[in-house]
Amino acid sequence: MATLQQQHNIETMPPRRGRAPVTGKPAFFNIQQLERFAVKRGFDAVVAQRLWRVVIRALRDGGGESDDEVWERASKYCIDGRQKLPKVAVELASQNFRLFSSKLAHVAESKDTQTTKLVIELRDGHRVESVAMRHKSRTTVCVSSQIGCAMGCQFCATGTMNLIGDLDTCEILEQVALITRHECARSRPAPRNVVFMGMGEPLANYQSVSAAVTHLCDPFHFALRKKGVTVSTVGVAPALKKLTREHPEVRVALSLHAPSQELRARIVPAAKQWPLHELIEALDDHLNSVSRHSGSHDGLMIEYVLLKGVNDRREDADQLIALLRGKPVMLNLIPYNPNVTATLHGFEAPSIESCRAFGKVIIEGGLRVRLREEFGQDINAACGQLALATKDIEDLAPAPPAPAPEPAVASTSVVTDATAPPPPPRKPRAPPPKPPPPQWTALATASLAAAALAASLAAAAAVLR
Ligand code: SAH
Ligand code: SF4
Repeated sequence: MATLQQQHNIETMPPRRGRAPVTGKPAFFNIQQLERFAVKRGFDAVVAQRLWRVVIRALRDGGGESDDEVWERASKYCIDGRQKLPKVAVELASQNFRLFSSKLAHVAESKDTQTTKLVIELRDGHRVESVAMRHKSRTTVCVSSQIGCAMGCQFCATGTMNLIGDLDTCEILEQVALITRHECARSRPAPRNVVFMGMGEPLANYQSVSAAVTHLCDPFHFALRKKGVTVSTVGVAPALKKLTREHPEVRVALSLHAPSQELRARIVPAAKQWPLHELIEALDDHLNSVSRHSGSHDGLMIEYVLLKGVNDRREDADQLIALLRGKPVMLNLIPYNPNVTATLHGFEAPSIESCRAFGKVIIEGGLRVRLREEFGQDINAACGQLALATKDIEDLAPAPPAPAPEPAVASTSVVTDATAPPPPPRKPRAPPPKPPPPQWTALATASLAAAALAASLAAAAAVLR
């Protein structure tokens, strides 16, 4: 049988930018090394994939906190004849591979127990963050794709770090696997969705992210639904086109933040390299492809961080309507979550009233909008990255066919619900009860990103009126 690399045409990974070479035992979630090892020991290369299957199953079945427990449980699944996996293969893998090359450095759980943040120490000592967000019976994992980020968006704490290095595919998968182990060992459901909204720009680390997406969706590996994976991007236009071609069914979230090239180039420096017209072309390309593949539009999400007096003015709303009208997108308005960039650039969060007013104008212009009301801005530096992922993405319902511009709506419906059926009729909705502001347990970490991401999770529920 063809190896996984051949099946998916996954190229061998080059050394990652900015990272120390790997030393010591290879990591189990490095499929290339596992396949090579299997073949060297006289097995078929497919044994590597079967090893992944039993180990992932062991993690999901609450395989335990220690690696030995996981190996032991995985080994038990070998007697299940369907696995066609000799026990000795698990034994050899456990002796020759590290189950994880990364380790959990800190775990912090929100008081409302809905969210857990994991600070993960990579093999060379760098730290990134992943978050498990439990919503109803589903769990979404937010993963990092880079250490820091080169894009330098002016409002983003991670952007102030600059790029330290890229994660490899194995390190991305390990975040999901570590969270799976953490959750399932506590009898919580295994994560079903993955969003690339942690640290870094996923499309600037395309090769690793693309291969990780392949493994996450492969029915013999992590077996997630393709629509359960969302890649959020600042708009690396050529890579977005590539993602559309190579992974047409995964979801995309586009971080737009400004309706004109001029304003966008000011607050999102990457816009100078990939100007708005190129981005919109890549966006249209994606929407057309989604439509061809699924026969319907699936509500691509546009992220828009609202900065007081910068991009929340009436003219910005009008330009945004003109830019996006007729496109089957969901505009996600996120009030700026003040962090270190507030001091650096003088940004302020707009009041919730002005966010609502902005949303109302957009709705009257015929777009679908969701406003995320944030709490906990008083605690720590905050960046809001992960707040996006808690509900919006999972609940994104299929969008109606390209919406025609609508007449002004009743003043009671300020912001539409992504899960609501397409208008009309648009009935006034009672606001959902506000959850109490989540409070974080203290997290001892010096990392700037850690502070930013922890606080971002304190940002809370959508306000749908
Ligand atoms: N690099 C990718 C994914 C990580 S950032 C991207 O930019 O899309 C994920 C989201 O968090 C982005 O939409 C980003 O704009 C948002 N974000 C960053 N800083 C924020 C802040 N201070 N307040 C609110 N949202 C923020
Ligand atoms: Fe990078 Fe995204 Fe932050 Fe921009 S918002 S600096 S692209 S992580």
